[in-house]
Amino acid sequence: MEKPIYPSVNMRITQGYQEGTHKGSFAIDEAGIDENISKIKSPYTGIIKKIYPNDANEVWLESIEKVEYPDGTIDYMTILFAHADDVNDLFVGKRINQGEEFYSEGTKGNTSGNHCHIECGQGKFTGTGWHKNENGYYSINNGKKPEDCLWIDETITIISDNNYSFKKLHKNNIENEHNTKTEEENTTQELTTDQNQKQEENKPMENQTNTLNILTNQENEITDYQTNTQKNTTSQESKITEPQTEKIQNTSENTVPKLIFTCKKSDLYGIYLNENEKLYIEK
Ligand SMILES: [Zn+2]
Repeated sequence: MEKPIYPSVNMRITQGYQEGTHKGSFAIDEAGIDENISKIKSPYTGIIKKIYPNDANEVWLESIEKVEYPDGTIDYMTILFAHADDVNDLFVGKRINQGEEFYSEGTKGNTSGNHCHIECGQGKFTGTGWHKNENGYYSINNGKKPEDCLWIDETITIISDNNYSFKKLHKNNIENEHNTKTEEENTTQELTTDQNQKQEENKPMENQTNTLNILTNQENEITDYQTNTQKNTTSQESKITEPQTEKIQNTSENTVPKLIFTCKKSDLYGIYLNENEKLYIEK
């Protein structure tokens, strides 16, 4: 299970939670080092659930699986990042690996200098991803203190932690823990890892369902969304989980391709395809 890691190699928190524009939220501003635009790493392996380009290029990243919080919580996590100047290479549905530099600090929206606004939320992406809080600021749903969500490791240099106590991940400690285990325990662990990998490989169906969930979420945000369409999407979901062999047979006989998504307005959508899967576009 992944442990979410603080997303900047240089921690310099210039505004803490419940301060100024962060009143009523657990948001922090991460400004990195001033020499250039600092990159923001993904704390965990996740999927982009929403991008809001009209304000500060806000991006919501939901963990692909449950993660281990420093406070002991085991749950999904969703983090909101804001102020990157350019998010053109990002799209809803894009998978980001843990540690991948996928976002940057910037000045888009209401800023006084290059930084990244970060808000952690417990659980999966819900609703529109955020709500207007009692102080009139938009903040992430189910917000939680950053030090209860993010770990730090020895690669991170702390310039300013705003007096928050982030829990440290020590590589040496982890290795020592392993060393003290009996051989039998180690073997069991290896087997479990193997089994996990096998389970990963057998997961395409779940991934497809996820993609459809994303599509459903997007459609929910489009105003003239009709229940009919929703029914279609739901029935398509069951269609898409039919065995792959059948799909391949269908295409080779030139039967009508299955409808998997109706585009309700011109926009950019992302979809994951597994090996040998085909996607048809009908105009
Ligand atoms: Zn902020």
